[in-house]
Amino acid sequence: MTTADRSPDALDVLAREIRAFPEAVASLRVTPDVTAAEIRAHLAEAYPFDAARPLDAVLPDVARMLRDWSLHVTHPRYFGLFNPAVHPAAVCADALAALYNPQLAAWAHSPAGNEIERHTLAFVARALGLDPAACAMHFTTGGNEANQTALVAALSHVMPAYAERGAAALGERPAVYVSTQSHHSFHKCVRVSGLGEDALRVVPHDDRLRMDAAALRARIDADRAAGWRPVLVVATAGTTGAGIIDDLDALADVAAACGAWYHVDAAWGGAAALSPRLRGAVRGVERADSVTCDAHKWLSVPMGAGMFFTRHPEVLRHAFDVEASYVPPDAPGREDLYRGSLQWSRRFIGLKLFMTLATLGADGMAAALEHQADMGDLLRARLRERGWIVVNDTPLPLACFTHPRIRAGERTTAAVVSAVQARGHAWISDVALTGDERVLRACITNYKTVPADLEILLDELDRALAG
Ligand SMILES: *Cc1c(COP(=O)(O)O)cnc(C)c1O
Repeated sequence: MTTADRSPDALDVLAREIRAFPEAVASLRVTPDVTAAEIRAHLAEAYPFDAARPLDAVLPDVARMLRDWSLHVTHPRYFGLFNPAVHPAAVCADALAALYNPQLAAWAHSPAGNEIERHTLAFVARALGLDPAACAMHFTTGGNEANQTALVAALSHVMPAYAERGAAALGERPAVYVSTQSHHSFHKCVRVSGLGEDALRVVPHDDRLRMDAAALRARIDADRAAGWRPVLVVATAGTTGAGIIDDLDALADVAAACGAWYHVDAAWGGAAALSPRLRGAVRGVERADSVTCDAHKWLSVPMGAGMFFTRHPEVLRHAFDVEASYVPPDAPGREDLYRGSLQWSRRFIGLKLFMTLATLGADGMAAALEHQADMGDLLRARLRERGWIVVNDTPLPLACFTHPRIRAGERTTAAVVSAVQARGHAWISDVALTGDERVLRACITNYKTVPADLEILLDELDRALAG
């Protein structure tokens, strides 16, 4: 420990950066212009770790590296993957979580942390139409962990001996149903759970890119006849590629009819439930046995912050429970999180959502979501006006589009994407939704994106298309 630990100067720099960066980022390039060799040379030169350096020298240099050498997902013209601009309250929350370093795994180690998370999760649960008193809920590192949790819960539910004897307990081969548009985290989930990719049954989509309920039913029937046991049906509320919301009611019926666990992966789209105006888009989510909803996607808090909800607390406890003699036992009504979740040591993930909701209020959060939905509507309208073809159908702020010249083979989506990214004024990507056709993808991920940002994107697109 050196005097650097107590340096007020470094903390002043930090406070200044937290205050200034959210405004300053809009005038930076979205994309960094740097090579790995440049960064490595600087690190080798400046940080041989051969001697102590004062924090007030290190901190500004690290801030500069992050400013100059990052793809700025908090930029108002990052029309990207589901990485949001973050609320200042959430940044403060993450700093406080680091400062106090509460251990949330055991209630007794962090009474405040555990109850703040419970309170926050209950608010989200109610918005999703779930009864928090009847649910088990916890924060996760993200959607991948929440989806993994859903699979383990499903396996434990469909075969109660799973925790002791593993998938062999079933006698039949466990099948997990996803659609062509589902998130690829499920490929990892089945591998990590020891089921292998064969267990993943990929169901076709309908003409709106939703999981085809009739095809799901047919696939389940055929699989059962061939010795498979349906364990989990995964619906998606807001697909990663095109923001499509599956027919959550229809898929719930199919899952119920075959006795499978019904999981709604609402990692991005679930946030819509926090807006009275948008809530109808995710109708049916309340029928899920479990739900994934990421706060670090559309609720504008920093990574990583996922949430997992289930209407079957006893299943979750059975799935994950262990007794560790070195952890003091919990008291009735004070559930220790390590006994009902995948994590052991547990960071105070929920504080950033709590502080964001506390400072915005429910109405403020709804307004932020609705503003982004409005920007999505405006973007689609403006794209059409300028001759682009929007190919996805969603009320969520994600546009997938192409152009007659791209369809005619005069220009590729990859060429358009790299031309836009190279100039650094905006960031978009492309995606393959169906078959071989690639389309452009632009998502509103920033509550501060305004119509002028959309116009800049449209100009960049026209310029990139012209080549
Ligand atoms: C992002 C996403 C995931 C994975 O979540 P992480 O937070 O990145 O782990 C899962 N499902 C969907 C639909 C997603 O959009």
